[in-house]
Amino acid sequence: MSEPDPAPGSTPHAALKPARKPRRDYTPQLRATLGFVFWAALFAAVGYWAWHQPFMAKPRAIAALSAAPAPETLPMPVDGVRASRVADTFGAPRGRDRQHEGVDIFAPRGTPVRSTTGGLVVGVREGGLGGKQVWVMGPGRQRHYYAHLDGFADLLEVGDLVRPGDALGIVGDTGNARGTPPHLHYGVYASDGAFDPLPLLRGHGADTGDAAR
Ligand SMILES: [Zn+2]
Repeated sequence: MSEPDPAPGSTPHAALKPARKPRRDYTPQLRATLGFVFWAALFAAVGYWAWHQPFMAKPRAIAALSAAPAPETLPMPVDGVRASRVADTFGAPRGRDRQHEGVDIFAPRGTPVRSTTGGLVVGVREGGLGGKQVWVMGPGRQRHYYAHLDGFADLLEVGDLVRPGDALGIVGDTGNARGTPPHLHYGVYASDGAFDPLPLLRGHGADTGDAAR
């Protein structure tokens, strides 16, 4: 049961508090809006500040790598080898149901192997066909595979950021290359699978035989 609207001035308080002209009160909405703007600005400022701190260097680098275009040429990952001397064996049959998903770069055991790109080290492990192997996620999120290494560069570990030319390991014959002439198996994988890196190696600069430093 609802009470009838009291006529203006008929309430008991009317005598004490004269009715004022009704006015819409925007204060709560204004406060909420200003509060939201304040917190959003503070959040953005703190986020911006944090993103540029040293401890965010790795996420920043990963974001930059992901956004960077895939390289159009690649320096030779093995010291002292000219790309023109590397055989084009990408796609060659390997066994009954496998194809060669990279190129083999022959060099004396112990020759330094260097990253062809800047990148994030996402794998340093031993086992399987590749033996001692390093995986680097490079520009455009391409994965670079360095296999059959005799050993890893000192202190190299997953999560490291590398620059082009940084040492990853040395040439060897581990994995299924055991007993063959020492070589680096180098493969590059894009989101749709492996592609032949040899044209990129051959297209690199003056083909000086060394990874860019
Ligand atoms: Zn190979």
